[in-house]
Amino acid sequence: MSQGMSGFGGPQPLQILSDGQQPVAAPVGTPAQVAALNARTSAKVIIVGSGPAGLTAAIYAARANLEPIVLGGYEAGGQLMITSEVENYPGFPDGIQGPELMDRMRTQAQRFGALIVDVDIDRVELSRRPFRLWAGGVEYATQAVIVASGASAIWLDLDSEARLRGRGVSACATCDGFFFRDRKVVVVGGGDSALEEALFLTKFAREVVIVHRRDGFRGSRIMQERALSHPRIRVAWNSLVVDVLGENHVTGVRLRDAVTGEERDEPTDGLFVAIGHRPNTAVFRDWLDVDAKGYLEVRDRTGTRVDGVFVAGDVHDHRYRQAVTAAGDGCRAAIDAERWLAEQGLAEPATATAW
Ligand code: NAP
Repeated sequence: MSQGMSGFGGPQPLQILSDGQQPVAAPVGTPAQVAALNARTSAKVIIVGSGPAGLTAAIYAARANLEPIVLGGYEAGGQLMITSEVENYPGFPDGIQGPELMDRMRTQAQRFGALIVDVDIDRVELSRRPFRLWAGGVEYATQAVIVASGASAIWLDLDSEARLRGRGVSACATCDGFFFRDRKVVVVGGGDSALEEALFLTKFAREVVIVHRRDGFRGSRIMQERALSHPRIRVAWNSLVVDVLGENHVTGVRLRDAVTGEERDEPTDGLFVAIGHRPNTAVFRDWLDVDAKGYLEVRDRTGTRVDGVFVAGDVHDHRYRQAVTAAGDGCRAAIDAERWLAEQGLAEPATATAW
């Protein structure tokens, strides 16, 4: 959802965070100082993305006095914003809700002076430094970039799915599960996301049917056990969703048996699509190498083929894809960016003792 571009070279509009809040920057100064900070459009490092990778990079870069700008995307917070309970992030023995974890990371980054602007990137220019990035009609300039733009949900690509999105079709149980109290829902997919969505939906729905195209799940053993032993979860194996039924809201899904080709209609009030993610690399493809699936290719730990451009998190990692690995990646990219800026004489090495 790009907003287009305007105003290059002219006076830069004040940046307003999407939640209407002033950034909690330290030190907090007079309103004029805060306004100046808010209008900042150049930085030693700009971080693209505000998931665990981007915000951890922001915490490290801010603590290294690089005063980073985070262009966080309109879907600020990344995938954890549409995740329910996170039970495997170290330090939270009782688990933590995904949005709360992201809120904490965001506050932590802002505490050290990171400026976070919740806006999507429209275009980048990485042929020479300072690099330039355009977002929400504003031109940003920077000596180093950390790309941590993550990955987004993949849809089934059915016309009926698109037509009924928000009318019973969703990719976010955490956001929309509440609306399905005592109803029946279908979850499509066979990975951890599908299993997690299905388990979460049992808090509301009276019946959850997982539709999976094969005869075995790909998700982790513990999640499989939980889903398969849940009294309100049933699985339709070897089944493809070929149509979503309903005029104004979802009334069912048409399933095709992957083995026999037979079709049947499964009545349902909702369809949750959880079939994986696609990396958010579109604006970088002209400048950086991507693999066959569109994920960024990394060189020399966190670097890319453009000196000064670093990568962190799910935008390159389709193997681990965990909040904790993304956070670790953000840390590595920020330290590498800081070290690189110091080598160029553009910054003092501040975390040298941590290396
Ligand atoms: P995933 O592991 O790639 O699984 C995607 C699932 O969707 C697969 O079962 C796949 O079927 C199915 N699928 C793909 N395209 C489809 C289509 N067009 N129609 C029907 N089904 C389709 O993705 P994910 O579940 O989002 O998980 C991604 C990563 O995040 C994994 O590493 C996972 O462990 C991790 N994750 C962890 C947690 C957690 O620890 N709490 C939660 C969520 C995700 P096939 O199996 O036949 O390929």
